[in-house]
Amino acid sequence: NGRLQGKHALVTAAGAGIGRATALAFAREGAQVLATDIDAAALASLAQEQPAITTQRLDVTRAEDIRALIEGQDAIDVLFNCAGYVHAGTILDTDDDAWQRSFRINVDGMYWLCRAVLPGMLERGRGSIINMSSVASSIKGVPNRFAYGTTKAAVIGLTRSIAADYVARGVRCNAICPGTVKTPSLGERVRALGGDEQAVWRSFTDRQPMGRLGTPEEIATLALYLASDESSFTTGTTHVVDGGWSN
Ligand code: NAD
Repeated sequence: NGRLQGKHALVTAAGAGIGRATALAFAREGAQVLATDIDAAALASLAQEQPAITTQRLDVTRAEDIRALIEGQDAIDVLFNCAGYVHAGTILDTDDDAWQRSFRINVDGMYWLCRAVLPGMLERGRGSIINMSSVASSIKGVPNRFAYGTTKAAVIGLTRSIAADYVARGVRCNAICPGTVKTPSLGERVRALGGDEQAVWRSFTDRQPMGRLGTPEEIATLALYLASDESSFTTGTTHVVDGGWSN
């Protein structure tokens, strides 16, 4: 306990899945956590589960809301950009709307949040930014993840650029690249496909060398490490956590 004592952390998409598990892990380790999400009900249930967490509704596609939120904060030491949107399909299945929505949520929001917190981090000479990418990115071509894989590759470029620009000024920036993790949205996507749900779950686990999916907690522990000073020599990296999927 206390690995993040004295740090202020902002987490996006903290209502469910990996973001929620990470907000809880950060709070457990002593951070002051500002948990944000587009889903107010999810935030309310998070605040109920862990009253030490402060919550605030935030849609990462709204640049003005991001600026307003950050202006009202004292200092943010840790930013975890977790929000993301999965569009399923090949390039021929991807229309302009799906393409733009993917960039808007997966890349634009991250750009705006990084821009908003960086001046404060640079002023104080410390900060850790953690960006959610995926193995489906520049690491691995995954079928039917055209727009998703493209945006998650962009996240890696964004991450490494920020890391390079501020490497000597106390601000670190790293990306997390999970394989398939069992989260509520994955369950929704399985249900949305219709048909034999068991068979769909099997198709997810069959492509896993470990024979199982990851858990949100297994990703949260990596985010916790990158947020803490234990990772003080680590910046500009892409951390794969995928049960050996991309190996
Ligand atoms: P999830 O889908 O379970 O939860 C996502 C949360 O994001 C929800 O609470 C939702 O309300 C919120 N959200 C949606 N749109 C938003 C917006 N515009 N602004 C703010 N919040 C918004 O999430 P997850 O599966 O844990 O995924 C989290 C991140 O991890 C995403 O970036 C995703 O691409 C990435 N990722 C997930 C997996 C996986 O298998 N689950 C694998 C690799 C990467």
